Amino acid sequence: MTVPLVGVAASLALVAPPGVAAASPALGGPPHGQPAAKVPVAEGYGGAVSTVDLDASKAALSVLKRGGNAMDAAVAAAATLGVTEPYSAGLAGGGFLVYYDARRGKVISIDGREKAPQAMTETSFQENGAAIPFADAVTSGLSAGVPGSVAQWELALRRYGTFSLKQALQPAVDVASNGFTVDQTFYDQTAQNADRFAAFTSTAALYLPNGAPPPVGSVFRNPDLAATYRELGRRGGEWLYGGRLGEEVIATVKRPPVKPGSTRVVRPGLMELSDLRAYRALERPPTKVGYGPMEVYGMAPPSSGGSTVGEALKILQALPKVGLHEYLEASRLAFADRNKFVGDPAYVDVPLKELLSDGFAKERACLIGDVAMPNPAAPGSPDGSYAGCQFEGTAVPNGDPAPAKGAEGQAEKPEGPETTHLAVTDRWGNVAAYNITIEQTGGNGIVVPGRGFLLNNELTDFTFGPAPGDPNLPAPGKRPRSSMAPTIVLKHGRPLLAIGSPGGATIITTVLQILVNRYEFGMSLPDAVAAPRASQRNAAATQAEQAFIDRYGAELTARGHTLTLVPGPPVGEIGAATGLEFLGKGKVQAVAEPSRRGGGSALVVTPARP
Ligand code: GLU
Repeated sequence: MTVPLVGVAASLALVAPPGVAAASPALGGPPHGQPAAKVPVAEGYGGAVSTVDLDASKAALSVLKRGGNAMDAAVAAAATLGVTEPYSAGLAGGGFLVYYDARRGKVISIDGREKAPQAMTETSFQENGAAIPFADAVTSGLSAGVPGSVAQWELALRRYGTFSLKQALQPAVDVASNGFTVDQTFYDQTAQNADRFAAFTSTAALYLPNGAPPPVGSVFRNPDLAATYRELGRRGGEWLYGGRLGEEVIATVKRPPVKPGSTRVVRPGLMELSDLRAYRALERPPTKVGYGPMEVYGMAPPSSGGSTVGEALKILQALPKVGLHEYLEASRLAFADRNKFVGDPAYVDVPLKELLSDGFAKERACLIGDVAMPNPAAPGSPDGSYAGCQFEGTAVPNGDPAPAKGAEGQAEKPEGPETTHLAVTDRWGNVAAYNITIEQTGGNGIVVPGRGFLLNNELTDFTFGPAPGDPNLPAPGKRPRSSMAPTIVLKHGRPLLAIGSPGGATIITTVLQILVNRYEFGMSLPDAVAAPRASQRNAAATQAEQAFIDRYGAELTARGHTLTLVPGPPVGEIGAATGLEFLGKGKVQAVAEPSRRGGGSALVVTPARP
């Protein structure tokens, strides 16, 4: 099925906001404590940001306006999201950052992924030879990985920023101490977690004041986190990686502050101060695939984001035409290969070059027919020796689809909505695409007493086993495989687009679908983000949003696909993307969700050409 462009554009009016672009009213916007206005699309010059949250976008913007660059602003926004989106991000979490360094004309990436402690083994998530229940593993000390975010911030600022850690943390300190307005998303996420939060004295005290989630519209302050960020700024990362804060993290992981009388079984963790001391964030070469005249850069292993998005794009290019059927089938095949081959490259020989090669893509593309292939698709053989097949012509995007309509009217395990992504650019043309997470919404549910932040449960991203040969089994010091896919697209060596999303393994399909919407179907970036989503991850059924099922279900079912409504919470939503598109002549379009997860916040430094 090739998507009829006119039909898509027309039906998108149902989900896209009327008039996709608006200069933000939120610059210097309502004071904290007032209902905030978020706009999902903004166009302008001199720098731009898109996050899921107005306070975080404003934090980035304030840094840009004070002369900071995109890296400074990305760190400031990430730290602020640790305050306002504390169930998705935080200083005890991790993340992946893809960055276009304008001065060097080069894309780099920084891996701030959490690590398993040295005491972790292949069977740490098993008891009596079987995997422990996933939910039990989530809410435990055992699932807490050695945090990566602070080391990542320090490395990012030292190599690419201009601010000190203290300066970059200041906007977050301000929001934590002055407070932010509780919105529906914060309320809902607190309510979803209320049972387990109530089981820990520290978490209940912070996030269930008066025994219940803070009401929508109230002002939420986190003075403990403000103090933690202040001290972190003064003392630097050593305070966590071996110092007093680290000792408190270890004590919390080993003896979670379970409320007296709680019947919850909370397994203790294995992390030691030596694990914190040994942690390093790593600069890694990004993945890179050609896509028509464009180059798509993503996150290399231990994330599977770059390799899986990249492989699927290569498969699509080997096909004679690209519609939604082909999008789903390419994703199915790329997931089969991801699951078989991708893990932490320090432990597993990931055949990355072959997974992203033309030959392999052609061999895989040959498996795509007119109807959905049987489930599950088997992994391929990325061994350098490939058989092709003959298609008539190939689908090659030109990177210059129907021009985006701008302000001036120019033409397996449960995957939840956890995590967040932000995109920032500055007046010099640097670009950051930054995925941050504490894994599940609410991480492991355990606040470090008196410090105002939650611990991550990132180690549940490992395969629990028994699963002989699985590349993602736990091991001492190993980084669990991620799906995070911060992505930057260049054309002729210059930034064209940046995009990313939360959503566990659906991150990969969301990023892929947005690129397909933009470059195969010719949608504007706001339309490509707003369009209804489906996620095929080598499973019998393709998970989809209701609007997708309503619009495309009949055609896709006729071609052998089974579509099921994606489970919540929030029911029926996939992802919460944020991105940027570079429109030429210095103009940037910042794009967030119009409605998913309550909508995001796009801001620009100035809407008018300077
Ligand atoms: N832990 C996930 C990953 O790294 C991100 C959190 C999520 O969105 O599920 O892929």
